[in-house]
Amino acid sequence: MDTDIIAKRVLIIEDETSISDIIKFNLIKEGYQVDTAYDGQEGLRKALESNPDLILLDVMLPLMDGFQVCKKVRETSNTPILMLTAKEEEVDKVLGLELGADDYITKPFGMRELIARIKANIRRSDFMEDKLNAPADVQTFGNLEIDMNRYEVRKNGTALDLTLREFELLKYLAEHEDKVFSREQLLEEVWGYEYYGDIRTVDVTVRRLREKLEDDPGEPRYIMTKRGIGYHFRRP
Ligand code: CA
Repeated sequence: MDTDIIAKRVLIIEDETSISDIIKFNLIKEGYQVDTAYDGQEGLRKALESNPDLILLDVMLPLMDGFQVCKKVRETSNTPILMLTAKEEEVDKVLGLELGADDYITKPFGMRELIARIKANIRRSDFMEDKLNAPADVQTFGNLEIDMNRYEVRKNGTALDLTLREFELLKYLAEHEDKVFSREQLLEEVWGYEYYGDIRTVDVTVRRLREKLEDDPGEPRYIMTKRGIGYHFRRP
């Protein structure tokens, strides 16, 4: 069997069976293998045991909420996590991203948009795995070594644990040293035109990056804010 046509596996963690059922129906129709869990504990167990290609994770769940599940999964796994958040719950979106979710989609959502987002996130994750086999292309910026090909970053020789989005943002800014980009430009260039998110996603990702890269995230030396415009990378 050709490995390209092995079905991708999606784990749906959602307690509302009507929502879970319709997502499952549509994903199977699209050729995915689907597993379901109806509370946070069951979801976490299945996520860790079966190592799916993507986790679709509701926030409000019995026994353990989606944020806790996300945090626990991230301790050991880079599986893409797409969070389902309630309408207009800005806090949920930001918190989900802070805890390591890759993306979120707001309820109620269209099935076509959901499937497009699932595809995009799995594609990015596959791309990331391919990168691990690529030849190294290490560039040095101050105390940082960024391997542009293999998606690895070291600070003073110690590997940093960046998410794919964080790495892509860092790489994009570092490749265009000193050039200032607006948040809208970064969303388009780094997250891709298919991304429906809001520009605060960029701010959250920059904040997370600074916490990992900078000695003092309050006094950044690499990723600089250009007030009223956006961000740029500077070689210290
Ligand atoms: Ca729920």
